[in-house]
Amino acid sequence: MAQHFLLSAKARTLSLAKVMRMSETEAYAMFRALRWAEGEPVCTHCGHAGAYEYQSRRIFKCKACRRQFSVTSGTVFSHYKLPMRDYLAAVAIFVNAVKGVSALQLSRDLGVQYRTAFVLAHKLREALASEQDGVTLAGDIEVDGAYFGGYVRPENRKEDRKDRRYAINKNGKRKSVVVMRERGGRAVTAVFPTEHASTDFIMDNVKAGSVVYTDEAPGWDKVRDFFQAYSINHQLAYSDGHICTNQAESYFSRLRRSEIGTHHFISGRYLDRYAGEMAWRENHRRDDNGSQFVAAGILAMKPRASAFKGYSQRHLQAA
Ligand SMILES: [Zn+2]
Repeated sequence: MAQHFLLSAKARTLSLAKVMRMSETEAYAMFRALRWAEGEPVCTHCGHAGAYEYQSRRIFKCKACRRQFSVTSGTVFSHYKLPMRDYLAAVAIFVNAVKGVSALQLSRDLGVQYRTAFVLAHKLREALASEQDGVTLAGDIEVDGAYFGGYVRPENRKEDRKDRRYAINKNGKRKSVVVMRERGGRAVTAVFPTEHASTDFIMDNVKAGSVVYTDEAPGWDKVRDFFQAYSINHQLAYSDGHICTNQAESYFSRLRRSEIGTHHFISGRYLDRYAGEMAWRENHRRDDNGSQFVAAGILAMKPRASAFKGYSQRHLQAA
């Protein structure tokens, strides 16, 4: 049997340039292979595998429920009216940006409106973040938290400035991203009001019997009671033999640089998606370009409910 396209050497070396040289027919075939790895179209409405294909248009009709669907239905690209090649280009541009890509840049690169790019970028973030769903970590796990969002700008005049260390002078939008990172393995992230609030999440997602590494913050006390745990006092050293949280720190370094260098401001409301996106990038950082494209493409083509569904029409719902 011929090797599946997504596993072939050709797929491993896919670049943005190669995507842009594809014909619409080639791009359509590629999109279809990413969406239905088995080859058979699966109905978006009822999940039945098997559909009639129209010869004149790229539309399918389910053999079970008889409803129509297209290759983009239910994916992050449904409801757009772009050429197939542009969808693949969006995935390639997105995965190539190691510190993330802003909606403004994506809108310039794809030649679409800012609002279109904003929603598309968030849907792609959701898709990448979904790789963490249902993942349980085991072995040596580094756990750490860092605060993002809710920046309060100091007043111009010294006499008007407030001490921003006090809760009363904060705006309440600052949140803690917590990462659990398996040494030599994957990173899983979530967002909480404080590090302290993440205890149950950590206990639910790390296998019993694992070894957990943290810093000395009191927020991890319960976690340390539950697992075999080591902590490093960062005031004395960043590592002491095997005791460190350096891999968790590298994750935060990527997220922080993305915040400062690419997005300039990350809203607390969307922080979990940015955190999940960066975890995906960290987890796939050693993969070659084409493999990253294929992995991200498969996630983007998987039908899922999106928090951004109907985002552009939200003013109509509010009216
Ligand atoms: Zn159906």
